[in-house]
Amino acid sequence: MKQPVTLVIATRNKGKTSEIRALLKNYPVIIKSLDDFGPIPDVKEDGDTFDDNAYKKASFTSRILGIPALADDSGLVVEALGGSPGVHSARYAGEDATDEQRIEKLLKEMRGEKNRKAAFECVISIAVPTGPALTYEARCEGEIAQEPAGNEGFGYDPVFYYPLLEKTFAQISREEKNLISHRGKALKEVVNEFDKLVIWIRQNMPVQEKFDCKV
Ligand code: IMP
Repeated sequence: MKQPVTLVIATRNKGKTSEIRALLKNYPVIIKSLDDFGPIPDVKEDGDTFDDNAYKKASFTSRILGIPALADDSGLVVEALGGSPGVHSARYAGEDATDEQRIEKLLKEMRGEKNRKAAFECVISIAVPTGPALTYEARCEGEIAQEPAGNEGFGYDPVFYYPLLEKTFAQISREEKNLISHRGKALKEVVNEFDKLVIWIRQNMPVQEKFDCKV
């Protein structure tokens, strides 16, 4: 029987790792997170696109640890702001700002703006140590609310209004959000293709050379 593949999730966010673990629980894969390894350098997320950053995180982690790695990068794209905050979503109001401060800045920028169209975008990259990677992308369309509502979720959820449910992402449960969110949809694609993905990983992992130890 073939050994299960090991996949490291390139994050220290326990929520993300447990979400992925739950989705892949019936597949022949051992999920690890960065916390299972000693300290490794942080990756600078300075790419121009979600794709750049996801690939950077996945390939750096995979090369350093020598095993396949999965990384995601996501953010909020607002039409009236020319796509901002985009890849800068996490640092939109400065390095050490809180979610509340980021939301405050966003609502200020959007004051009086009629076009409230926005989307959350997510790119997942799965890389092997030799360089190749697979990419999965998903998007979730919504609107920027006039004011925050709800206590669930994180980040921009209180101001991301989802018209089909007539609620913000902070007013729905985690399970409901996973069914419609950018990250939930991208992960679903990974899961749907998981059997093919395992074959791709096996084909692209470097072959370990074996040496006879002759004395
Ligand atoms: P990262 O992909 O974990 O680096 O997330 C980037 C930033 O985008 C987060 O810090 C949040 O501000 C924002 N973001 C990404 N996904 C979500 C989401 O599902 N809800 C709310 N904010 C999000």
